[in-house]
Amino acid sequence: MLSKNKRTKTFEIATHWINKDQHELLELLEKLETPFVSTVLQGSVIKEWNGKEICEHRLGMLSDLSFSEQLELACFLVKVETYCVNLEKTWDRILINKLASITFQEYINQNLHSDKVKCFIEYVVLITCAIPPDKISAFFYIFYCLSNRSLVDQMVSEKGTNRYRIKSSHKNLCERLVEKVDPNIIFFGEPVLEVGVSSKFVKVSTIYDEVNCLALIVAIPPSDLLKIKFKPKLPHTIMDSIYNTISRNVTTFIATYQEEFWRKNGFTGEVYVFDRNCSEGPIVICSGLTPEKPALVGRLYGGRPTTDKKHMYRDAVLNQLKSYFGKEALQPLDYYEKTWRENECMMPVWEVNNCEYIDCFRVPAGRIFWAGADTSFDWYGSLAGAVCSGIKAGIQVLYDMRPATLTPEDMDVLTLSKSDRRHRRTQYEQGGLSLGLYYYAASNWKKYIYSVFVLMFVLWALKKILWKRK
Ligand SMILES: Cc1cc2nc3c(=O)[nH]c(=O)nc-3n(C[C@H](O)[C@H](O)[C@H](O)COP(=O)(O)OP(=O)(O)OC[C@H]3O[C@@H](n4cnc5c(N)ncnc54)[C@H](O)[C@@H]3O)c2cc1C
Repeated sequence: MLSKNKRTKTFEIATHWINKDQHELLELLEKLETPFVSTVLQGSVIKEWNGKEICEHRLGMLSDLSFSEQLELACFLVKVETYCVNLEKTWDRILINKLASITFQEYINQNLHSDKVKCFIEYVVLITCAIPPDKISAFFYIFYCLSNRSLVDQMVSEKGTNRYRIKSSHKNLCERLVEKVDPNIIFFGEPVLEVGVSSKFVKVSTIYDEVNCLALIVAIPPSDLLKIKFKPKLPHTIMDSIYNTISRNVTTFIATYQEEFWRKNGFTGEVYVFDRNCSEGPIVICSGLTPEKPALVGRLYGGRPTTDKKHMYRDAVLNQLKSYFGKEALQPLDYYEKTWRENECMMPVWEVNNCEYIDCFRVPAGRIFWAGADTSFDWYGSLAGAVCSGIKAGIQVLYDMRPATLTPEDMDVLTLSKSDRRHRRTQYEQGGLSLGLYYYAASNWKKYIYSVFVLMFVLWALKKILWKRK
């Protein structure tokens, strides 16, 4: 794309947010010499919720909530977190079935009364899962919080999920990885068509080749599995649970400029449109890139897919940007938009009553081992999930074939990731001080009530003693 001083530069149309808890991914990025940058900039952010509002920083998002609404939000966060902790400990079938039988929207409606708090949670779901909460089961979202970070960390904040961004593009990352592995043993443009499993081998057939191997790691999006002919067929639990997933098209845009004109007025470039009804344009979220590449990137509310031939949202997007940052927004050096469809890195979410999905991919199916972001128990649906699942699948293969070669650290990977998730659970204060306090208060409400009673008793006893002395 055309960038500053009319130079051509590559841009990542889907910003890849990462965070510092994603150790395996960070290690890989280091090996691939791929830097990442903080997304937290000094300046104001724009929130649309009953009209445009300018907040001094990301956490200002919550400034609108009254004390009782903040407490309601905190109680909700604690409830979700408690489910995560229980699932982590027991993976209780009764709890899973109960949560899988309703949509997350129903769960929200049952547990929240304030429209503002509901809107806030619905927005968090929309930006993390790219789908509104009425399309997913409550089980899916609670699993998502368990697998990734707690709901409080997913909220828009200085320390939340979108704390860092990979500087290089996704494509660039893949190219570096291929270089490291060995370009000669990677075949491009040869989709696998058939997989035959016998008692001794797995035969993998592409359009041009046939390869026999002892074990196969499948790392493609589960919906793509349905296009491959497996002999014998995959267990029906796997097929059924894939059928009961869904993912929405997502349209992202990028507009490049000569300079970051929005910074002159003190804006970071961030816009959060909490409620579509209060906005005239299609943007759901927007942020600015680094100074070397002045650009605004963002995501649009679902609608018709755009095409390369005609960027159908261009005028609406630029006009919306103008309403936030001024008329310079109408003059980008370059503009591009893309609709990510199902199978294009789009995380599948589980519909109501889909209880089996993640269990199906936890264990190998004979000689077939599962990897990929959408099969991962850790960091489900993200780059970090893809990396963790790949490492785990590799170790599972070795465990199956050459167990003597495994080191104690390898064995830890098969078991220890659980404790890593538990560590993440305790980081609720990451949501920021004020929310952290409410969160803490809500999770300790029994202690608080108890302390108030004790204090009242002490005061009453003191009063009695002093009264007697008089
Ligand atoms: C708009 C958008 C924004 C995102 N933002 C973030 C973010 O901020 N942070 C984050 O961590 N993640 C983000 N993601 C998700 C992230 O991109 C994915 O989770 C990650 O790319 C998944 O990696 P993967 O290797 O599991 O699958 P993929 O990247 O989907 O790779 C699977 C590969 O398998 C190939 N394949 C499919 N079928 C066959 C076949 N039959 N034979 C051979 N090959 C086949 C496909 O061509 C593809 O190359 C985003 C995704 C999108 C779409």
